[in-house]
Amino acid sequence: MPGATSAIVSELGRLVGPGHVLDAPPSSVYNRDSSNRRALVGRADAVALPGDAQEVAAVVGWCYAHDVPIVPRGGGTGLTGGAVPMQGGVVVSLERLRAVRELEPGLWRLYAEAGVSTRDVQRLARENGLMFAPDPGAAEQSQIGGNVATNAGGPHALKYGVTGAWVAGVEVVLAPGELVQLGGWAGKDVAGYDLKSLLIGSEGTLGVLTAVRLRLLPAPEAAIPLVVFVRTRAEGCALMLELLAAGLRPSVLDFMDAVTLRALAGAYPGEMPAQAGFALICELDGSRTEAEAQRRAVLELMSGPPAQALAVHEPADARALWRWRDGANPAVTAVRGGKVSEDVVFPLECLAEGLERFEELAGEHGLRSCAWGHGGEGNVHATVLVDPSSEAELDAAEAVGEELFALVVQLGGSIAGEHGVGWHKRGRLAAQWDARALELHDQIKRAFDPKGLLNPGKKLAVYPARSLGTSGAGT
Ligand SMILES: Cc1cc2nc3c(=O)[nH]c(=O)nc-3n(C[C@H](O)[C@H](O)[C@H](O)COP(=O)(O)OP(=O)(O)OC[C@H]3O[C@@H](n4cnc5c(N)ncnc54)[C@H](O)[C@@H]3O)c2cc1C
Repeated sequence: MPGATSAIVSELGRLVGPGHVLDAPPSSVYNRDSSNRRALVGRADAVALPGDAQEVAAVVGWCYAHDVPIVPRGGGTGLTGGAVPMQGGVVVSLERLRAVRELEPGLWRLYAEAGVSTRDVQRLARENGLMFAPDPGAAEQSQIGGNVATNAGGPHALKYGVTGAWVAGVEVVLAPGELVQLGGWAGKDVAGYDLKSLLIGSEGTLGVLTAVRLRLLPAPEAAIPLVVFVRTRAEGCALMLELLAAGLRPSVLDFMDAVTLRALAGAYPGEMPAQAGFALICELDGSRTEAEAQRRAVLELMSGPPAQALAVHEPADARALWRWRDGANPAVTAVRGGKVSEDVVFPLECLAEGLERFEELAGEHGLRSCAWGHGGEGNVHATVLVDPSSEAELDAAEAVGEELFALVVQLGGSIAGEHGVGWHKRGRLAAQWDARALELHDQIKRAFDPKGLLNPGKKLAVYPARSLGTSGAGT
């Protein structure tokens, strides 16, 4: 209904300035995110680019008053369709909220608006001798607000935790359009329920984050990377358990399986052993003395028995190693032209079984698979390789995903480790949570969003998706 869309554009133009409201034709980036799924294109009625938190509140207030859905958008790097306006409405992009409100290196803290990129947060911390530990892979483009909204992880989450562990407080626009502070700089605060934590990982379904208070850490003096090659998946998974049972605390303990290793072999900054069927990518950090002590302990453990590595490499250029590791995504995509990846978690003691059964599931559907991820947490990017032009293969990949979700739940894991639930996995919470816990999710959603307008249809499919044509204003 073009009339309605242009009415929304002109109404919002009065709130944020006419140059800061866009139409969103189907080709617009604001109708997509970074998901590699078919048919994941939204149909936004308009895109609002507010310039500050008050303008975000005004846009949310207007949408709420006119029954128009609100889809918060960060950098659009999400992998589950969370920022895609599947049911129309206004995409509220935080890209103009880029101010750093406070940087207090002596107090190890940073107060940044939601649209500041993850990379800029990391850079500001580093330039001041500090570290912002979360390191999700699309840092140039993702925003700190998006990271908090998805509770993003990354390789260093093993030692340092996911984004939420570093959030002291949030400024958020809540329905029906109020700017509210949750949490703050108090060193301890047990007054009230922990509402801030409800917002963390809420994927835009409870409110629109406009700024976040982040805690930083002094940067570790040393970070030593090691790559451990073993013959088999079973050996690699056993080694990870050995390492943790020995009391070692790597900052990173990632893994790659044989297919991923082969796809990346040419790019490895070193010589990969021909018999390598699994690799652990490990980093040991702390003071120079601590990191060295951990390194020696890992090397001793790897020289077996019971664990015997094929080779342990100590790359001279850590940045080259991380570039190689970050190349996993495009490298496995190139094998057949496409891939469908699921982000799931197995309990660590079930990781070997989970990986093996995932490979079997894919094989039963005639597809090749591969897996890599954050092994120390059992977090797997379980991937099937597809010809993207084959509808039959895409159907088969979806079937593998369904069976994989059932498998992780059966083994006591999670259907979502770090990429969120978004649109792809909506409704799947029912498989993982008890009925009463689901009911509480529903009640929390209703308390924050009585009209069901905040990112409708995402995360919780239990909350009735509204039947929305182009809505409210001007119709
Ligand atoms: C190459 C690549 C590598 C990646 N590696 C990792 C990784 O290692 N670890 C990891 O966890 N993720 C990873 N991701 C996924 C993605 O980068 C994260 O989910 C990231 O946190 C999304 O941030 P964004 O700003 O792009 O959010 P978007 O994609 O724009 O949005 C994601 C969700 O958050 C909501 N949202 C965004 N901003 C706000 C806001 N201000 N207020 C309320 N809700 C909001 C949206 O509505 C949506 O539901 C990767 C993605 C890519 C493409």
